[in-house]
Amino acid sequence: MPELKLVSKNFEYDDQPDIKSAMSRGAYQQWKRVLSEKIPPEDIIEEVKTAKLRGQGGAGFPAGVKWGFVPKDSPKPKYLCVNADEGEPGTFKDRALLEKDPHQLLEGIAITCYAVGIHTAFIYMRGEFYEPQRIVQDAIDQAKKEGLLGENISGSGFNLEVIIHMGAGAYICGEETALLNSLEGGKGWPRLKPPFPALVGAFNCPTVINNVETISGVPHILRMGGEEFAKIGTEKDGGTKLFGVSGHAAKPGLYELPMGTSLKELIYDHAGGVRDGKGLKAVIPGGSSTPILKPDELDIPLEFEAMMDAGTMLGSGAAVVLDETVSIPQVFMVMSRFYAHESCGQCTPCREGCTWVYKTAKKIAEGNGQPSDLDLILDIAPMFNGTTVCPLGAALAAPAVAMVEKFRDEFLKLMKN
Ligand code: SF4
Repeated sequence: MPELKLVSKNFEYDDQPDIKSAMSRGAYQQWKRVLSEKIPPEDIIEEVKTAKLRGQGGAGFPAGVKWGFVPKDSPKPKYLCVNADEGEPGTFKDRALLEKDPHQLLEGIAITCYAVGIHTAFIYMRGEFYEPQRIVQDAIDQAKKEGLLGENISGSGFNLEVIIHMGAGAYICGEETALLNSLEGGKGWPRLKPPFPALVGAFNCPTVINNVETISGVPHILRMGGEEFAKIGTEKDGGTKLFGVSGHAAKPGLYELPMGTSLKELIYDHAGGVRDGKGLKAVIPGGSSTPILKPDELDIPLEFEAMMDAGTMLGSGAAVVLDETVSIPQVFMVMSRFYAHESCGQCTPCREGCTWVYKTAKKIAEGNGQPSDLDLILDIAPMFNGTTVCPLGAALAAPAVAMVEKFRDEFLKLMKN
């Protein structure tokens, strides 16, 4: 399947962050149309539902359905939080969207806020994103000068402030409720759900939280119509997705493809297979928290349900290619160190469990492990599921089980007995 560029269609233009250049290529046309034609907000929500746009941060929840959960008649203010934390190892699509086409995101924010009746939007940005922050803030200032954001936009009476909030660099703040606590000035600790943010979110008010890529897709849905957008993808996943390929790929980079394209096609036809003519050992398909796949498991459609049926996840669509020289026990050790470090420490199974998995993985990688360590990992990993406030512990457990089960011989080779 060839590339189909919607959210990345203007990535090739260096002047896209300039509002005049962006407008010459169609930026804000749908936002202006929404206001001039006074499109009913509920029609926009229906269009997004029809488009089958799903959350592109990893969870895959249908965006229009999420917007529909926000109470229309709430006496409290409502908020939009755009999740630009992007901390999942291997993932680099949102950074590109922020830096290369900030007005596309702002147009998506404006349309989303209009549809849900929101007048304040936060962009919660990863602490290390200095350059994206500068570019997006400049874009906000330009849009306000053009009268496309701010007070009484285009004389419509609709007001919208967009505020960038920088995080402090914690992976866990990409989890939506940890993000809310951090936004409010508290510790980045996830909250128990329910209540869900659509009812009780930022500052105890109804809040929509969507990823950068999800919101960037909204103007395209209005331009094409929900039905046409949905037709691009599969029965349940509409449109396209930005897939990032990194690691030992011959042509690492971002590829925007219709949902449902096969992982094998992404790796071999678009990313050129493995570099330097080496063999493929494995692929981590959707960021570090998604279970690893062996070379003979790649012929699966890149869509949420199909990936789950294959025992892994679509995640953020960030595929990490590992060539034949890679040591899986080393990968396991590095990955578990990351999760042990990033656990917020709020719940015991995750705080103690991730650290224990890391220590065991280190012992094995250094040649001091025993076969019983592998069995213990397999026994303990399922205990993360359903016993913690957020899915971080499970985000280590599932890939750990997959690595130990699929590459057991490689682990055993490192052991003395
Ligand atoms: Fe924190 Fe881990 Fe519990 Fe999530 S699962 S709340 S990261 S301790």
